[in-house]
Amino acid sequence: MSATTFDLVILGGGSGGYAAALRGAQLGLSVALIEQDKLGGTCLHRGCIPTKALLHAAEIADGARESAQFGVRATFEGIDMPKVNEYRDGVVGRLYKGLQGLVKSRDVTFVEGTGRLTSSTTVEVGSTTYTATRGVVLATGSYSRSLPGLEISGRVMTSDQALQLDWVPAKAIVLGGGVIGVEFASVWRSFGAEVTIVEALPRLVPHEDEASSKALERAFRKRGITSKLGARFAGVTQSDTGVVVSLESGETLQADLLLVSVGRAPNATGMGYEEVGVAMDRGFVLTDDHLRTNVEGVYAAGDIVPGLQLAHRGFQQGIFIAEHIAGLKPRVIDELGIPKVTYCEPEVASVGLSQAHAEDKFGADNVETYEYNLGGNGKSQILGSAGFIKLVREKNGPVVGVHMVGSRVGELIGEGQLVVNWEAYPEDVASLVHAHPTQNEAFGEAFMALAGKPLHAHS
Ligand SMILES: Cc1cc2nc3c(=O)[nH]c(=O)nc-3n(C[C@H](O)[C@H](O)[C@H](O)COP(=O)(O)OP(=O)(O)OC[C@H]3O[C@@H](n4cnc5c(N)ncnc54)[C@H](O)[C@@H]3O)c2cc1C
Repeated sequence: MSATTFDLVILGGGSGGYAAALRGAQLGLSVALIEQDKLGGTCLHRGCIPTKALLHAAEIADGARESAQFGVRATFEGIDMPKVNEYRDGVVGRLYKGLQGLVKSRDVTFVEGTGRLTSSTTVEVGSTTYTATRGVVLATGSYSRSLPGLEISGRVMTSDQALQLDWVPAKAIVLGGGVIGVEFASVWRSFGAEVTIVEALPRLVPHEDEASSKALERAFRKRGITSKLGARFAGVTQSDTGVVVSLESGETLQADLLLVSVGRAPNATGMGYEEVGVAMDRGFVLTDDHLRTNVEGVYAAGDIVPGLQLAHRGFQQGIFIAEHIAGLKPRVIDELGIPKVTYCEPEVASVGLSQAHAEDKFGADNVETYEYNLGGNGKSQILGSAGFIKLVREKNGPVVGVHMVGSRVGELIGEGQLVVNWEAYPEDVASLVHAHPTQNEAFGEAFMALAGKPLHAHS
């Protein structure tokens, strides 16, 4: 076998691509992983990790500002943004080094360069052709989209530029109240900015259960974050000192910058996919439930495949493809069973069906819900967090949805994920002991209540 022939050739070294590479190598496949930028992709360098580092710095800022209410004397003096960025870069750098070491230790051949699919078995990088004998994986990710006519430059930015800021805006406008928008709104508010979110739909985080959107809107209002819902963006002008955003209603808003967070588009054009005959729809690569494209031997993973654009979905898809190619029989990934977390303050987490979707599926009379208020949970009281855990079950059937809002509830979604994916009944979970005092205990309480035996909750 020549050095350019491998079992698996993977285009894109982000969450989807590198997971396929690591799992493939673990299963004994020879693997080439082609990446034009940095191993780790969006999640590690421009997404999940750096934003969560900023959110952690934001939590510390809130802690300092609010310390007096816990009897701790401290003064919040401000944000040293270069220092925050240094901390963030340290986190990213350590993970990057670890990932590079992992790829090397598994004997994955890492190819630096821009690849192009040239046939169902070959990817070209410069003048070298890499041939795959078992499969090609397309995992070229996504990029921040904008609106028609809305140019990204200067003070009008996407999350890519917002992450590079070495100053804190005094006033920020966030266009789009989805996950990325509310996370930046939360960070900047904690850092001291006046923040306005402009969202065309009638609620924040519109893909979540309506109760979660309402709770987040309330919590943001309390934090002084303004949400303009059902508000349509008309245009923006910018000068050396700021931006002026106009809405279709005729209202204008002024700020230091505008963050455009209106979703992410697949990065799948101009790389030979269409020429090789890969079926696509609005830029996304279409696959079956085994992540096979219509071209035999060509698979796709991650944000280029329609569905949730989340790193852990990409990981699982990459693992699935490697296992499938290696001849194992991996379980088909159920999109509904993938947990979602929005890491603003308070956090929003969910898995499974919202109440509305469950009612569509089973009929309104066949759905039961229960909302446990975190007010009754000791640890949440200690943390000073309001919020709830909402369970959605099919009447006399399993739990089909879990929805939460509150500080740090993202860490609780693991149990929700097990419950929904294992189709557990509230009665099953109610008999399991949850540690006291934890926020996780609120789960136990919610399941006990839904099983008809509430403890620290009113019947
Ligand atoms: C601000 C932000 C915050 C986020 N936070 C979270 C979060 O908290 N949790 C979560 O689960 N998800 C989060 N995401 C989403 C997550 O980052 C993506 O879902 C994930 O990175 C998708 O992985 P991927 O492998 O599909 O693509 P990517 O990670 O984008 O990787 C694709 C890679 O392919 C490379 N590439 C593209 N074209 C070529 C080519 N022709 N040749 C060679 N290489 C190429 C790119 O350089 C890139 O490295 C966030 C995203 C953003 C932007």
